Amino acid sequence: MTNLIKTNPTRRTFIKSSLALSAGGAVLAACGNGATSGLQCATSDTLSRSEMLSREGRDYAEVSQVDGRNCVNCEFYNGLEAECGSCQIDNLPANPAGHCVSWTEQQA
Ligand code: SF4
Repeated sequence: MTNLIKTNPTRRTFIKSSLALSAGGAVLAACGNGATSGLQCATSDTLSRSEMLSREGRDYAEVSQVDGRNCVNCEFYNGLEAECGSCQIDNLPANPAGHCVSWTEQQA
């Protein structure tokens, strides 16, 4: 009976495991894309509701799911790779690892 209890995860351990897997997935997604992660640049914590709606209209994501296309290598990005920058289109914060449908290759 003791072994049965130890092998059956409680709700709390299940939730902890799920959160750990989610965090790992986010890191892996970022790594597979060559993008940085861990920055929170343009989220509901940093943008107003109307700013969030504007960004959602362009399908903005804090971590790009498109290989090789990130804010940091977008023509409209102002900033560095290791910290939050801004987008010239809307003058709002942008994550260097982010992406939206307005992504445009940087000109040389
Ligand atoms: S236009 Fe470029 S810099 Fe601006 S949010 Fe989209 S991908 Fe990022």
